[in-house]
Amino acid sequence: MVEASKHWFQKACSSSDCHTLIHPWTYKCSDASSMMLMSCIKGSYKFYAMVYLIQILMRGKKLGKKEMIEQFKLYLKSGIFGLTVGSSFVTLNCIFRKLFFSQFNYYTTVLLPCTVSGVAVYFEPPYRRVMVVNLFVNLVFEYWARTLDHMGWLRRSVGRETLIFMLGSSALFYLMRLERENPKRTPLFWFFTPPRVSKEVGEPIQGIEGKSPACPHKGPCLNYIFRGAAQLFGVGCLMTILRTIVPRILTPAKALKSLNLSHLKLGLFFGGYIGIYRLVICLLCRKNGRDSALYALPAGFLAGIAFKASPSTPIALAPVTSTLQILFSWLYQNGTIPTNWPLVELLYCICQGLLFHARVMHEDVCPRYIVNLMRTVTSKKADEIQHSFIQKILRYKDLYP
Ligand SMILES: [Zn+2]
Ligand SMILES: [Zn+2]
Repeated sequence: MVEASKHWFQKACSSSDCHTLIHPWTYKCSDASSMMLMSCIKGSYKFYAMVYLIQILMRGKKLGKKEMIEQFKLYLKSGIFGLTVGSSFVTLNCIFRKLFFSQFNYYTTVLLPCTVSGVAVYFEPPYRRVMVVNLFVNLVFEYWARTLDHMGWLRRSVGRETLIFMLGSSALFYLMRLERENPKRTPLFWFFTPPRVSKEVGEPIQGIEGKSPACPHKGPCLNYIFRGAAQLFGVGCLMTILRTIVPRILTPAKALKSLNLSHLKLGLFFGGYIGIYRLVICLLCRKNGRDSALYALPAGFLAGIAFKASPSTPIALAPVTSTLQILFSWLYQNGTIPTNWPLVELLYCICQGLLFHARVMHEDVCPRYIVNLMRTVTSKKADEIQHSFIQKILRYKDLYP
């Protein structure tokens, strides 16, 4: 893959017309904007259909009629957010170029318009904004990790990523257990929410039968552990199956044949994660006859080993990001950060600018999620644009080596 470094971009692209760089599919700026909008309407609603489907599946609960309508309204709004961000790239660039800049510049071509279009995040309700920011901050961390790896400064490895995930899970579950008592807790989208710390106390018990009075659950411990593990194992497998089959829905026989044992990995990770966590909590409650939020530290740490079954850089960093989110929400709640500062929205704009800039200029180190996101939301128009950037640079390098 070719990198559009600042040097080559300025040399090869800066004096281009906008129809050869920003909208290679048509000459006129107004046509380009409307075509981009149509592609993004289609792409955005397709993308959010998948997002909402997965979110509903992850809940593991059936939705009532009222909730269905509520989810559908949210879906429509999220779609507007997606299509605004996607389609405004072309429009903003054409406008900026006509009004302010006579040439394309490495920073003002993607970074600037994509930072500005981030304000569309206001279409999402506040609690969803927090979740979107969490996702994007995590992607920026991934982008940095990939950049460090690319430069050879800090190599990524399964062992290192597992350790980061274990440490992150340990901190995150501890803070989540503390947060359970907080009525204004920050919305987190995690595999599961640990139960609140039980106030019951009892005698230490031996063996594996029954439960300790201190256990934060009903029914025997073994049931509790295996039910959780089986449920999340199912969710993990279902997600993998959907991801494998849906793109090949027109050839179901082929799709089914493509399934194999390696598709169980995600299920093993999810199931193992909750299984080990619950096991450790129960063992400690049974041994000590009382529950404590601190048990989440060893439980989260050990549960993190399950990550090895299905390692990935974004997931490795996710508990760290969510831990930071909880800490920031505490700063808001105790008044250190004034609540009227639009920090969440600003942070979103910056992250979006950085990531979309990375998508076009530094494809090698851009998180795969962003590549797929932009491809889906713009119905492949983003790929066309990036292609025209790279072609220009390659042609220039051929002419003036
Ligand atoms: Zn134009
Ligand atoms: Zn138990």
